[in-house]
Amino acid sequence: METRGYAALAANTPLQPFAFERRELRAGDIAFDIKFSGICHSDIHQAREEWGSAIFPMVPGHEIVGVVTAVGSAVTKFAIGDQVGVGVFIDSCRTCENCLAGQQQYCLDGMTGTYNGYERDGVTVALGGYSNKYVIDQDYAVLVPANLELSGVAPLLCAGITLYSPLRHWKAGPGTKVAVIGLGGLGHMGVKFAAAMGAEVTVFSHSASKEADAKRMGAEHFVVTKDPAVFEGLKESFDLILNTVSAKLEINLYLGLLKLNGTLVVIGLPGEPYEVSAFNLLRLRRSLAGSMIGGLPELQEMLNFCSEKNILSDVEIIKADYINEAYERTVASDVKYRFVIDASTF
Ligand code: NAP
Ligand code: ZN
Ligand code: ZN
Repeated sequence: METRGYAALAANTPLQPFAFERRELRAGDIAFDIKFSGICHSDIHQAREEWGSAIFPMVPGHEIVGVVTAVGSAVTKFAIGDQVGVGVFIDSCRTCENCLAGQQQYCLDGMTGTYNGYERDGVTVALGGYSNKYVIDQDYAVLVPANLELSGVAPLLCAGITLYSPLRHWKAGPGTKVAVIGLGGLGHMGVKFAAAMGAEVTVFSHSASKEADAKRMGAEHFVVTKDPAVFEGLKESFDLILNTVSAKLEINLYLGLLKLNGTLVVIGLPGEPYEVSAFNLLRLRRSLAGSMIGGLPELQEMLNFCSEKNILSDVEIIKADYINEAYERTVASDVKYRFVIDASTF
């Protein structure tokens, strides 16, 4: 299937137009026309090899939404015309205990990433969502409720689920105090979800200009982190802190803000390790945890939650030829709050 997209050919060169072929439909596959594809900071980390060596040419993109155009002979879950989404993985072993529990992102054999990796045959390089057409096994796609507008849905497939899952796991809700560090693509979804679940939400940001937006999204409090004195008055305040920052932070400052039994969840993925103070963890029996995206059942649950509560990502829709500028602006924290590529421009 002839496909047009954008690819990185090396870690230090701009992305450029790239034509390639996707497989023809197998019995269990669906094909869809991509409508929108979100730009996640993970795309930038990988295209620039900030997490280690990568596979080139790389077609990034794991926030993919579109409309089904064809279904294989054995497909039962989708019909032509359905709105569909694909996130950060396209396959997994399907037999380990985590896959069977619907936690495919934690597959014991390793999830199959949407790009920058090999499909399960071990030879086909997976090419992601910065493109106009897509083919996937029906079991690894999700149905997007018809009332949701697709451009604002694309970021839900990674940014959305990545914040929804820890908020559910650590039981955010009425009576809990939740902090979100970093108001970017992931962080802004965390604010919307935590507020919709009934938690009291605080945003920690190094961009003072984002305060009004944070409050519009549901935050009650907004803390500008440039002056370390702000941390003093907030010690022992939060049940749950979600760190979505793409750069390395002074994590001990934030551990000190947790209440008894509070948890700080590492979500942002800077390439270098954190130094954690043992004293900060022991005091008040605090936990430092991690969380990675979410499994397929939870992805569907999140989309249904969005449909019910009318939650979408705040997006800036761009054309394909703006991708490189969008990368620069994302790195500079100048994004409101997710760049989404109009796939008709590939
Ligand atoms: P993003 O849109 O660039 O947002 C990151 C935000 O972090 C920025 O908007 C900024 O918010 C803050 N920030 C950036 N640089 C900073 C610095 N030097 N100091 C302090 N704050 C800074 O990125 P994203 O797409 O949300 O992704 C965030 C991170 O999560 C990335 O590392 C990404 O790879 C990772 N990620 C993890 C998962 C997972 O499963 N755990 C999934 C997807 C992405 P303020 O301006 O408000 O400070
Ligand atoms: Zn992502
Ligand atoms: Zn598995």
